[in-house]
Amino acid sequence: MRFGIRKKLFLAFVLVTILPIVVLFVSAGLFMAQLSKDPQLQQLSDSNFLINKIRDEIINHYSQATDNIAFNESIQAVAQQYSIHIRMTDIYGKVLYDSDNSEEIGKTIEQSSQFFGASSNKSVQENIRYSFPVIQDNQIVGTVFLTFTDTMTVFSYVWRILTLFLLCMALGIFTFILTMCISVRLLSRSILVPLKELNEATEKITEGNLDFTVQYARNDEFGRFCQTFNTMKDKLKDSLEKQQQQENSRKELVASISHDLRTPITSIKGYIEALQVGIAKDEATVKQYLSIISSKAAALDRLIDDLFLFSRMDLGRMEMNFSLMNSAELLESIIKPLELEFSQDSVSLEIQRPIVSETVKADSERMNQVINNLVTNARKFSKNDGKIQIFTTKEENKVWVHIRDYGIGIAEEDIPHIFERFYRGEKSRSRNYGGTGLGLAICKYIVEEHGGSIEAESSVGEGTTFRFSIPVAI
Ligand code: ADP
Repeated sequence: MRFGIRKKLFLAFVLVTILPIVVLFVSAGLFMAQLSKDPQLQQLSDSNFLINKIRDEIINHYSQATDNIAFNESIQAVAQQYSIHIRMTDIYGKVLYDSDNSEEIGKTIEQSSQFFGASSNKSVQENIRYSFPVIQDNQIVGTVFLTFTDTMTVFSYVWRILTLFLLCMALGIFTFILTMCISVRLLSRSILVPLKELNEATEKITEGNLDFTVQYARNDEFGRFCQTFNTMKDKLKDSLEKQQQQENSRKELVASISHDLRTPITSIKGYIEALQVGIAKDEATVKQYLSIISSKAAALDRLIDDLFLFSRMDLGRMEMNFSLMNSAELLESIIKPLELEFSQDSVSLEIQRPIVSETVKADSERMNQVINNLVTNARKFSKNDGKIQIFTTKEENKVWVHIRDYGIGIAEEDIPHIFERFYRGEKSRSRNYGGTGLGLAICKYIVEEHGGSIEAESSVGEGTTFRFSIPVAI
């Protein structure tokens, strides 16, 4: 079972507070149970009962007091069981019986002050001593002295209780420290380890190193945080790589734009100079020169258009002027001029009619840009006697426009990237087809602003089909 940090903290607190208390109480209970069975303590607490018992025994057997052996038999058992020294004297102080030393019998001892009425004499440090009179037929006939030889004193009793109390406390404290150490260790694994890893990770990021993965992967709050951190780091890495790529592309773009601008300008300048100095003698040559100048100017115009659109797109300022219109009318208005243009071209343009007729919400000027871009690309990458086909279909409530060419095609590895800004396929680069790598990125942006999508299908050497959709509005 996996616990979250909150549950672990709760559990640790419960363990650290409850367990030592439980240990303290249980050990105190066990010690007390043990203590209550201790005969010495029983003896201490039962001393009055014992004295009465001994007194009764002695009084009952007083008649045998002079017969030391018989008396001894009846009293010795009690004396031994409770480790009591019993001495009995007559009223003159002559020892009649001594449980420890029979040689004392017959000697006379000095009467003590405890003789009459005094029942006990407890001292803290010394053995406990008692004396009481022996009464026979309402007459005091002797005295009995009891000395508890192996008795626990009050002091040692208190001392033992105190020791046990301290022992219980020590056990409780030991359990507290142990549970603390275990909890700290367990919690540190769940908190300090990932924190350390995260700290190292942020240091690496600060140093610009993004090639690492935070390893902590437990299914708790920190584990999830570390995974999110990894995702964030991956995204940052991706975006930095993309940024770097775009930066490189921008640099390439500046280089290629200056080249792309200079080439047509140089040739325009050349043809104009040729016309000025009268190199072109006949009308046909003049016309040819002018047509070259016009096509170069058109290429320049397109290039500048692309750049202009891109900068507006980049700044998010490419406004759309949407209006409801008929898709067939919209597409006809764009395709017709293209048909005219291609009538002069070695590449033919075939339009499949009828064009799908649905109400769409579109910006006709931007749609014109999309189709023009796609047809210009198709023309650029077509062989000289090739053909380009345009046809429309309706799928899933969308009008699809297809532009097919039979040109050089796009390599499979290029296809996922052609809609990226500044991306130019290897082939178009190596063969120097020109272009900024912005056309398709602009098409994608415009189509998506219309709520549609754009995609490409291609096979190298056989041709390419681009298709984009516009949602049906009503
Ligand atoms: P460019 O201005 O360089 O043509 P685009 O964004 O229009 O930029 O196109 C990006 C790349 O996609 C091109 O460099 C080319 O490699 C490839 N491409 C686009 N259209 C075609 C096509 N019809 N046939 C072959 N390759 C194409």
